[in-house]
Amino acid sequence: MSEIGYIHSLQSLGTVDGPGVRAVIFAAGCPLRCVYCHNPDTWKMSDGTPTSAEDIARRIFRLYPYIKDGGVTFSGGEPLLQAEFFTKLSLLLKERGLHIALDTSGCMLGEGVMRLLDVVDLVLLDVKFDSEDDYFRNTGGSFLQTVAFLDELKRRNLPTWIRRVAVPELNDRREDILRLSELVSRYPNIEKVELLPFRKLCLEKYRTLGIEFPLENTPEMSEAKIRELYQYLNS
Ligand code: SF4
Repeated sequence: MSEIGYIHSLQSLGTVDGPGVRAVIFAAGCPLRCVYCHNPDTWKMSDGTPTSAEDIARRIFRLYPYIKDGGVTFSGGEPLLQAEFFTKLSLLLKERGLHIALDTSGCMLGEGVMRLLDVVDLVLLDVKFDSEDDYFRNTGGSFLQTVAFLDELKRRNLPTWIRRVAVPELNDRREDILRLSELVSRYPNIEKVELLPFRKLCLEKYRTLGIEFPLENTPEMSEAKIRELYQYLNS
């Protein structure tokens, strides 16, 4: 099992990535290139800090009084790229009974990922777009792969929250949300769907990295529109 993980950062007390107050570990490295990505500084694994699972676990245990009723979330970047490392870390965290959530695009399956799924308690799965064409054009990845991942979560009856960054003109039409709703209806393990409004707080990061932000001219998503999309989801 891999002893070293490449870590972008650790957020001490997050409240938006899973239930309760949580520590969030951001993995370095991601195979996708979502047009709306707000963490371009996590794309390269080699930019991460090499860290042992024991070291991360020690840092997390210091937060134990605050997160014991919440837990720990693996995010990124893409934690599946370092599935063995996160499996080892999960086993250490579980010794103190911490709840583990995995925040992922579901972009790969394989023996290492299967072992990681054996030890996590909740998956936060991004379903970014609703067709192979749209998914590939806007992320470089595969919608069908996301569905295959979801199939595996269903087979395991693993609690799953679906997340979607809603972006004006890209995936915010009524038919987009109805397709998402139809997909969700086929998976009894899905407990919740969260629509996250597209924001441009990441612009400065792109400028610093010297990378063009593809959605620089796209407006941010309004809260009113998000409320409207939730109505389609629940209709
Ligand atoms: S999967 Fe996440 S980290 Fe990777 S490019 Fe997409 S939004 Fe960014």
